[in-house]
Amino acid sequence: MDSYDVMVIGGGPAGYVAAIRAAQLGFKVACVDAFERNGKGSLGGTCLNVGCIPSKALLDSSEKFEMIQHEAQEHGIVVDGAKIDVAKMLARKDSVVDKLTGGVAFLFKKNKVTSIFGLGKLVRPEGEGWVIDAAGTEVLAKHVIVATGSSPRALPGVQWSERIVENTGALTIPEVPQKLGVIGAGVIGVELGSVWRRLGAQVTILEALPGFLATADAAVSKLALREFQKQGLDFHFSVKVEKIEDTGSSVKVSYTEKEQTVEAEFDRLIVSVGRVPHTAGLGAEAVGLALDERGFVKVDGHFATNLKGVYAIGDVIGGAMLAHKAEDEGVALAEQLAGQSGHVNYDTIPWVIYTTPEIAWAGLTEQAAKDRGLNVKSGQFPFSANGRALGHNDTRGFVKVVADADTDRILGVHMVGPNVSELIAEAVVIMEFGGSAEDLARTVHAHPTLSEAVKEAAMAVDKRAIHA
Ligand code: FAD
Ligand code: NAD
Repeated sequence: MDSYDVMVIGGGPAGYVAAIRAAQLGFKVACVDAFERNGKGSLGGTCLNVGCIPSKALLDSSEKFEMIQHEAQEHGIVVDGAKIDVAKMLARKDSVVDKLTGGVAFLFKKNKVTSIFGLGKLVRPEGEGWVIDAAGTEVLAKHVIVATGSSPRALPGVQWSERIVENTGALTIPEVPQKLGVIGAGVIGVELGSVWRRLGAQVTILEALPGFLATADAAVSKLALREFQKQGLDFHFSVKVEKIEDTGSSVKVSYTEKEQTVEAEFDRLIVSVGRVPHTAGLGAEAVGLALDERGFVKVDGHFATNLKGVYAIGDVIGGAMLAHKAEDEGVALAEQLAGQSGHVNYDTIPWVIYTTPEIAWAGLTEQAAKDRGLNVKSGQFPFSANGRALGHNDTRGFVKVVADADTDRILGVHMVGPNVSELIAEAVVIMEFGGSAEDLARTVHAHPTLSEAVKEAAMAVDKRAIHA
């Protein structure tokens, strides 16, 4: 039987990063992954194959299309008769995915990680380690890392079909639907809803909760919702979806809104109502791997499960279902297995939503800080007063810095506006170092850049922003 120091089950951002880091640290590592694309094994998990990467590729294509159609004129650029070739757009997205998934395979080779395609299953403890069924062959591993990720949550009684789709289907719709329904105004709902709206679909988003993006700072979600509505996304809140039916040529959705029953008909329906941990096929029950009441693998502060030698990371253990959180857990665990002190700072994990305007935040919202009993002060700076944003012709949004009024330490940074997906990194770094609003305000920022809005928001905490 082949034996390894570390066997990773799942080759998504959590698993492949853990495998590479463990190999760098001198372990003999294998990774078994079951993901298939076009009939072949494809590394990178949900994120690279059917998540982060393809969705951002489509967001970029559709944003360029919208720019050419509606904004180029303001720059004096005249483009007549712009059209979208959906097949070509999807093919470009696929080629980006091919490059990146192939890149992980290359990194595995470079770091001497054995890559096995197929299902991985915990079989039995043996000696110091575990016997794993890796794609039908038993192997022995001293440490096992479960990184099996998550799957889209389905609505009870609703079957996926060509027209009723989750993330994978939403990324491969072959032509722009005239009417697109989306259930769930969460991250996938607004990102993929935006893609198809920009390409010409009439998009209706049905959300169960009364408000939009409750985890973001209230000022951010308010502005973002207003902008999305201006763009034509048709949101309905406090909706109860009663019935979904694929008629063979359309999808009929009946829902209740303000005590009225509404019958709607769409060409396609994206169901994006969250994700659930994926443990099917892992043999969890047979070996007694402890799961919590929602099906997440239970771990302690060092990613250890209830089974000696078995660890878990990424979406399958819950918390923020984000690729960078999963990756950092992979690094931290590999380092801990090597006797080092890798750790993840869960207080500074950035959230980014890649819409227009983009949304990004890290740390506590103003309300959450107040709820913790902290004495809070905050400063806000609008992109409308930022020279670079004016140059871009994109002045929507602002940066908001929330600080502790007693110590001046930054508690959270919240942004909505152009390129904030990149600007948030600076906030994460300063929070990681326990920096203050004063530290950020006194750091020289290049002019003219969007990042000056971050500095000015920090200055605004003490009411001394210069340009607003
Ligand atoms: P996964 O990526 O799900 O990987 C798990 C892997 O394990 C899969 O390949 C699966 O096939 C395999 N597997 C499962 N069971 C077994 C088994 N028994 N044996 C062998 N293999 C198995 N996050 C961001 O940070 N930024 C984004 O922009 C972003 N965009 C997203 C867009 C969409 C449409 C979706 C759906 C998600 C997005 N996410 C984003 C979330 C991100 O994809 C996940 O948080 C991330 O992929 C989690 O990584 P993971 O390794 O834990 O799990
Ligand atoms: P989500 O949790 O972001 O949003 C789901 C939404 O569906 C919520 O607003 C919820 O109230 C609503 N909902 C739930 N049940 C409903 C019902 N029966 N009827 C109507 N609305 C209902 O989940 P998602 O959009 O499916 O995305 C899953 C996860 O993937 C995200 O939470 C995130 O972790 C990850 N993701 C991240 C990014 C990013 O980082 N940019 C992008 C896409 C996905």
